[in-house]
Amino acid sequence: MLYFCPSLESSHQFLQIDRMNIVNELEIEIQKPLFDRLAETDYENVVFCQDKITGLKAIIAIHNTTLGPGLGGTRMYAYANENDAVTDVLRLSRGMTYKAAISGLNLGGAKAVIIGNPNQIKSESLMRRFGKFIDNLNGKYITAEDIGTTTKDMEYVKMETDHVAGLPEIMGGGGDPSPVTAYGVYLGMKASAKKVYGNDSLIGKKILVEGVGKVGSHLVELLAKEGADVMVADINMTALNEMNKEYNAQIVSLETVFDQKMDIYSPCALGARLNSHTIAKLNCDIVAGAANNQLEDEVRDGQALMEKSILYAPDFLINAGGLINVYTELYGYNRQIAMARTENIYDVAINLFNLASDENIPTNVAANKMAEQRIYSIGQVHSRL
Ligand code: NAD
Repeated sequence: MLYFCPSLESSHQFLQIDRMNIVNELEIEIQKPLFDRLAETDYENVVFCQDKITGLKAIIAIHNTTLGPGLGGTRMYAYANENDAVTDVLRLSRGMTYKAAISGLNLGGAKAVIIGNPNQIKSESLMRRFGKFIDNLNGKYITAEDIGTTTKDMEYVKMETDHVAGLPEIMGGGGDPSPVTAYGVYLGMKASAKKVYGNDSLIGKKILVEGVGKVGSHLVELLAKEGADVMVADINMTALNEMNKEYNAQIVSLETVFDQKMDIYSPCALGARLNSHTIAKLNCDIVAGAANNQLEDEVRDGQALMEKSILYAPDFLINAGGLINVYTELYGYNRQIAMARTENIYDVAINLFNLASDENIPTNVAANKMAEQRIYSIGQVHSRL
């Protein structure tokens, strides 16, 4: 089974939910010898980095570089044991391969984890030592920030290697990716409307945005500007009141989210919001949101949504704006270019919805298929040079 966990997300709550989902796979996986696990989905390179002086223990997993250098953030987390860290980095790096591939980027998939509590062991010397390990890979891996690491940490990494993105704006970086991510989600939502309603207008559509943080709040702004009838839910009352005041969004209590009759449900907070319980209640035509790993179980829940005729816009496609933002940084950052590249999400979404309906398969399965096809066909181009 494939698990997608596109990186550059920034929520510890997400990590916890995400980890609950993989716990069974984790238990099975750690029984297997490491080389068998690597061979199963053809990982290219896994590098274990240790340095006694700084206390650095890190793993860099490069899953696939057919399309370009492997890019993925560095997650720093107090893993319960080393096997958990290995499983996480393998799973996350593979997710990055698919996310980059479907987004049409010339990037491969990779990811790094540093084992340890960032509040306890992180230091300038540790991050710089880690930067040296990255430098030794000669550009095969490009890092960025992730849960447990910050733009400041990337500044330290940058002192030792050029293979780093996600830098602060004053250092030529792309800054906060959330507006770009929100724009991609908005376009993915419009593409979904086009597929379901025959035109992509969101005027008057009842749309519930769950989670109005950095991405959700920008999304609400875009939806309100277009004339959608927006509802919002969050645990943060201040954020909700602001959405109500600024954009006239109707506040809905979290307990009633799945009792609402709506056109579009947009999960923008936590993962695993789509599961057997919630899908049974869900009363909408489209699911299109920013949250990572929205399906609790890729196979079961993708199928269940299709059977209920709810169009699911795969999260790792429509929330790829953050990755596109970092990718743009590699060529000299320009926000307009990042936004323009993000517009590709609309066309890709339309193509994948058509593929899913033509083949009568869930949209998340179609998305995997498209990503794999791109990797295969570009791989063929390269092998013939
Ligand atoms: P954020 O932390 O800024 O916002 C999350 C919001 O969710 C907050 O307002 C928080 O109060 C709310 N929330 C927390 N727990 C909740 C709960 N139980 N129920 C309802 N709301 C709850 O995060 P963000 O950067 O806006 O990211 C949102 C989601 O999108 C995350 O899953 C993240 O991984 C994903 N994502 C973000 C980006 C990005 O560019 N920031 C890129 C790709 C994916």
